[in-house]
Amino acid sequence: MYDKACPACGKRLSEFYNTSMLGCPNCYHAFETEIEFALRKIQGKGFHVGKTPQNTALDRELLSEYQRLIKEKERAGVEGRFEDMCEFSDQLLELKQELRKRGLI
Ligand SMILES: [Zn+2]
Repeated sequence: MYDKACPACGKRLSEFYNTSMLGCPNCYHAFETEIEFALRKIQGKGFHVGKTPQNTALDRELLSEYQRLIKEKERAGVEGRFEDMCEFSDQLLELKQELRKRGLI
């Protein structure tokens, strides 16, 4: 199997699979597809964003929440908090769908 490496810190994808830990924030971007796949496999539960009336204030809120979750997830990855990563990943997925529906991303 092809073993990707993070261009920033040199961490290999196989190491991530072994330890569930990322070497640096850039690892998350380098291994994004694989990480998402790993998280999907581990956890199936969803996060529900609830009712969302159309308004731009809410749009902005959703977008800033989206940015925040990405940061939180990266940090969880770097700190090896895999459970938290799963949680953030679920929330991001739901939020992404909502943002797409609203044409924001
Ligand atoms: Zn890295």
